[in-house]
Amino acid sequence: MNKKGNGLSDLNRIIEYRCPVCNRLLMKGKIITVETKCPKCKKISILRNTAI
Ligand SMILES: [Zn+2]
Repeated sequence: MNKKGNGLSDLNRIIEYRCPVCNRLLMKGKIITVETKCPKCKKISILRNTAI
């Protein structure tokens, strides 16, 4: 029997985080909390993973 580790698609799902002001894509992935500054409109946003 081989372990394949393919049953984690739900846990590993990629989440997109966008600027609330201009809707520019800021980052993708899995975070807990991060503060980021939009390179387009300079808005500082605190992004949180709401899917934990
Ligand atoms: Zn922005």
